[in-house]
Amino acid sequence: MPPALELAVVACMDTRHSVEKVLGLKHGDAKVIRNAGNILDDGTLRSLIVCVHRLGVKHVAILGHTKCGMTLVGRGEFRIAKNISATTDVPLHEVMRPDFQRWLGGFEDVEENVRRGVQLIRTHPLMPRDLQVLGLVYDNENGRVHPIID
Ligand SMILES: [Zn+2]
Repeated sequence: MPPALELAVVACMDTRHSVEKVLGLKHGDAKVIRNAGNILDDGTLRSLIVCVHRLGVKHVAILGHTKCGMTLVGRGEFRIAKNISATTDVPLHEVMRPDFQRWLGGFEDVEENVRRGVQLIRTHPLMPRDLQVLGLVYDNENGRVHPIID
């Protein structure tokens, strides 16, 4: 089903907020794609391609939020790697391959991460030139949303 507002939202999987409540959306208004850190990885881009070229989406919003846990991953936090090693047969040195941190997708700055996502969609060769892309950050403390790129 195409979304009623021709909108797709890429948001973090953070459980402190509901994307629909934050943006005042009703069920069926938008396709909501969530992952750790609202990152435009291959899976998210694949879903957006389907939204745009099959489901009539004409507007995309990247919704980041303050105090995102993925900012900790971006600072070289090794708990995830250690836990993978402790709970699987993969030794830590193999988990910690050179691009492990980058692959996890951590970042230091929430707004910069949103900007990067907006820019990636705006310049992606498979995205329509007239696609509207908006960057937003939700403040977990005051409940407000502010635009990063309009
Ligand atoms: Zn987050």
